[in-house]
Amino acid sequence: MRALARIAPPLLLATALVCSVAGPATAAGPPVQSPPKVPEAVGWGGAVASVDADATAAGIEVLRKGGNAVDAAVAVAAALGVTEPYSAGIGGGGYFVYYDHATGRVSTIDGRETASRTADEGLFLEGGKPLPFADAVTSGLSVGVPGSPATWETAVRLWGRRSFADALKPAQRIADQGFTVDQTFQDQTALNQARFKDFPDTAKLFLPGGDLPVVGSTFRNPDLAATYRQLGKEGTKALYQGDLATDIVRTIQHPPVDPASGRNARPGRVDATDLAGYQAKRQQPTHVAYRDYDLYSIAPSSSGGTTVGEALGILEDGEVGRYDGTQYYHHFLDASRIAFADRNRWVGDPAFNDVPVKELLSERYAASRACLISPDRALTSPLAPGDPRHPAACASAGPAPAAEPYEGLSTSHLTVADRWGNVVSYTLTLEQTGGSGITVPGRGFLLNNELTDFNFTPLTPGVPDPNLPGPGKRPRSSLSPTIVLRDGEPVLAAGSPGGATIITTTLQVLLGRLDRGLSLEQAIAAPRASQRNTAATQAEPAFLALPERARLEALGHVFASTPEIGAATGVERLPDGRWVAAAEPVRRGGGAAAVVRPAP
Ligand code: GLU
Repeated sequence: MRALARIAPPLLLATALVCSVAGPATAAGPPVQSPPKVPEAVGWGGAVASVDADATAAGIEVLRKGGNAVDAAVAVAAALGVTEPYSAGIGGGGYFVYYDHATGRVSTIDGRETASRTADEGLFLEGGKPLPFADAVTSGLSVGVPGSPATWETAVRLWGRRSFADALKPAQRIADQGFTVDQTFQDQTALNQARFKDFPDTAKLFLPGGDLPVVGSTFRNPDLAATYRQLGKEGTKALYQGDLATDIVRTIQHPPVDPASGRNARPGRVDATDLAGYQAKRQQPTHVAYRDYDLYSIAPSSSGGTTVGEALGILEDGEVGRYDGTQYYHHFLDASRIAFADRNRWVGDPAFNDVPVKELLSERYAASRACLISPDRALTSPLAPGDPRHPAACASAGPAPAAEPYEGLSTSHLTVADRWGNVVSYTLTLEQTGGSGITVPGRGFLLNNELTDFNFTPLTPGVPDPNLPGPGKRPRSSLSPTIVLRDGEPVLAAGSPGGATIITTTLQVLLGRLDRGLSLEQAIAAPRASQRNTAATQAEPAFLALPERARLEALGHVFASTPEIGAATGVERLPDGRWVAAAEPVRRGGGAAAVVRPAP
């Protein structure tokens, strides 16, 4: 079937679709029941929080069998590749942050996707004009070299206690035996139905019988199970250099679209040399000292660590814990606004730009930006960036930027702790929900559309833009996996999906827990708002129902309603050594938290 789908002439496509109505024989088996979702768990022996119950259970299984937080995190990520295939998996990338208890060190892996070494600033231009965003998304052109497989293998090799093959086993089993389709999975499929149906291999996998997967039914992915089995046996060499690499390159360069669909799925430039040259990068985390805490996150190519860190630096100037509700939200929103003005001007792939990371996170620069905030009135956007290399109180550096381009709403964050006190905070993504919409035929996974995170044209004419496409370049990300220490011991780890709102969600969860007296579960559940240097602040309906809303509007804040922001997870170590795992009670259908030995 793999070969047929790859060639994809109309007649054979029709056959493939008819076959899928009956369901492939390999996918048969008894129905399975996924575990229930629990948003909070407390106890000993380690903890896992993710958006999905099967994935969380996979992590707990590995911890029980003697794996550490790294082994478990990779197991959870691989399982998310099965159960959250539109947001996570080996077709995408992400950022891995690891606290090692034995050394007290925090290390990170930048597993971001890269553009082809033949890419240039004109990657998304046609006839000198930027491609329509939707056309760029569903194309081979937007697919970057996947970074997640290299991230997983590197993490386990460097810090794990078990083998890469072992870490993949629970996911393999879930892919073989199946998981229970829930409403969120069906909704996410429905969101993608119009484009999935144009790619016969994607339709065959995710639109069984041409239709949405039925809630309560069992969803299997034997192709992905086989892919994981191969990776376990041969290592990721198979994916970066072997037959899997050949399949990936062919798919990117010749997107297997149904010719009858009329869709112009533009070919990508990534080739075998690009895949063979991919490296997940080890790099120093960002670090900010905030009150009694040390916060570690991911350095560029993500803007997560610098932007959350800069906002915290601005807020430390005030007294977030003592503000009333209105002043708290007011300062949170304006600090976010300022930090976003700066990130858009200064942050991109450091291999191509001199990103002033240290300066963006310096106390001096934070003070020079904090002085913009007045307790009596909101700042207006777009706000001009400052110059972190030459901090001057309340000064700007250049014109206010145009509105930030759209970023997706996909991605998955997981947090894991183990009995030894090691902690992982890991966010992985395909960019959009459903990535490029293109499944690698017969391999069971979707390819990312991460390259659409580049700006297609300079954000502000005449001002250098650090996030234009380039050869082998990593597009700027917003992923913000964070670990918090106090006196060298882990206290908290958190992160979220949600495109650029990831930054404000992570910031809000951290402030809620560290400053506002909320428990981790409450900080995650609290109503959210996201200000990213735009005229209106996005806010959830529950935020707009808060009594502070009218007072914030009186200060000049403008809100636009949005149904849901982010889907955070976190773990926290209690003073007696127990772990709390926490996930969303409601957003994205709720998340799944678990501990090895419950002890509430
Ligand atoms: N691609 C985005 C990033 O890396 C994340 C997409 C999302 O969370 O929706 O920042």
